[in-house]
Amino acid sequence: MRQSQLFTKTQKEAPSDEEAKNAQLLIRAGYLHKEMAGVYQLLPLGLRVVEKIKQIVREEMNAIDSQEMLATAMQSKEVWERTDRWDDEKVEVWFKSELKAGGEIGFGWSHEEPLANMMKNHIASYKDLPKMIYQFQNKLRNELRAKSGIMRGREFLMKDAYSFADTEEQHEKMYADQQQAYKNVYDRVGIGEDTYMTFAAGGAFTQFSHEFQTVCEAGEDITYICKEKGIAINEEVLEEANLEELGVVRDELVETKTAEVGNIFNFGRHKAEDAGLFYKNSEGERTPVWMGSYGIGITRVMGVVVEKKADEKGLVWPESIAPFKVHLVALNTDDEEISDWAEGVYASLQKQGVEVLFDDRNARPGEKFAESDLLGIPYRVVVSKKGKEAGTFEVVTRATGEVRNLTEEELYADFS
Ligand code: ATP
Ligand code: MG
Repeated sequence: MRQSQLFTKTQKEAPSDEEAKNAQLLIRAGYLHKEMAGVYQLLPLGLRVVEKIKQIVREEMNAIDSQEMLATAMQSKEVWERTDRWDDEKVEVWFKSELKAGGEIGFGWSHEEPLANMMKNHIASYKDLPKMIYQFQNKLRNELRAKSGIMRGREFLMKDAYSFADTEEQHEKMYADQQQAYKNVYDRVGIGEDTYMTFAAGGAFTQFSHEFQTVCEAGEDITYICKEKGIAINEEVLEEANLEELGVVRDELVETKTAEVGNIFNFGRHKAEDAGLFYKNSEGERTPVWMGSYGIGITRVMGVVVEKKADEKGLVWPESIAPFKVHLVALNTDDEEISDWAEGVYASLQKQGVEVLFDDRNARPGEKFAESDLLGIPYRVVVSKKGKEAGTFEVVTRATGEVRNLTEEELYADFS
């Protein structure tokens, strides 16, 4: 993509009402547009990052035989009433509306109930099980506070998955597969080292639910972490009995600010019982399905990566989720020889399948470099008159600041 064609502009200042570093940087760099508090539009660069994260999650979900679908944002009151979760007292974050034709609808803050209900049409017998489904969808939540940028949106993108099983064994297997898929996802997006599977409350069937918490100053949660043992515990379950069971003592745990990047729940059979999702087991008995539910905050993950990796100059993307791999910056473009050379390099890198943002604009070097730093693309390749004379390109690694001077041949070999 040519930067001269990109419709977004970078900004010197973030909106004065934006407090969160992640949103400030993403807005300044032209990745996001702030529509209102907690509501952000994804611009081309931002969308590319989100699509990269989605693709990683999609690959991990497909690898454990989860099937992608897309549910609606509009939801039925009756379906949520059945499990007693329509009431605003029970669920604080509901957005609801009234139909002109009469009756109320809800906007999806979660999809456990609607999808359990939907599966009644597809699960009749034990032969239809086990099954897993997932989707990427904008969730709508009437969050009281929305001061953490895209880490807490009122509209945000979530991957949610649901497992349906006949036996406890099938159920446990899918739960374990999801746990492993989550670990793979956080590794691949570049936050694996700082992300802990955390014991939390809220297990309806089991004693614990599992949150995935990433060490992050801007996070809204507190997690107690023993790095050596790799054990992390949520504040709500920090009791002597639980610590004993997990094999850790209070003194080994360090109170740490974290962000919840995912959450998985083991419902046992009670959710299906409440929702009315029954099937005939191998003995011919009418039985509620074993269910699990698995969420990843896609846009929250993006925000956490920004918070953790950015430096004083701007964004710093891990290669796996960067909008482009290479930022090709052409200087001295008023010299035809240089601009032709830059065009040639752009074409060759693209031919090699490298994702390139080509800064083909006529602007001052200082301005171009500052903007390039702000955008955070992993490798900057500079085409200049000076380089042309030496027959080399300056290649700067954004994350480390390492500078290399490569010949054209070396450049293509490096990015092949
Ligand atoms: P939190 O405690 O942060 O409000 P939650 O317990 O409500 O999270 P879930 O309902 O389990 O979260 O949602 C699954 C995942 O979606 C969370 O682990 C988180 O990563 C993400 N998430 C939840 N709420 C938001 C939000 N308002 N904005 C962005 N991501 C969110
Ligand atoms: Mg919440």
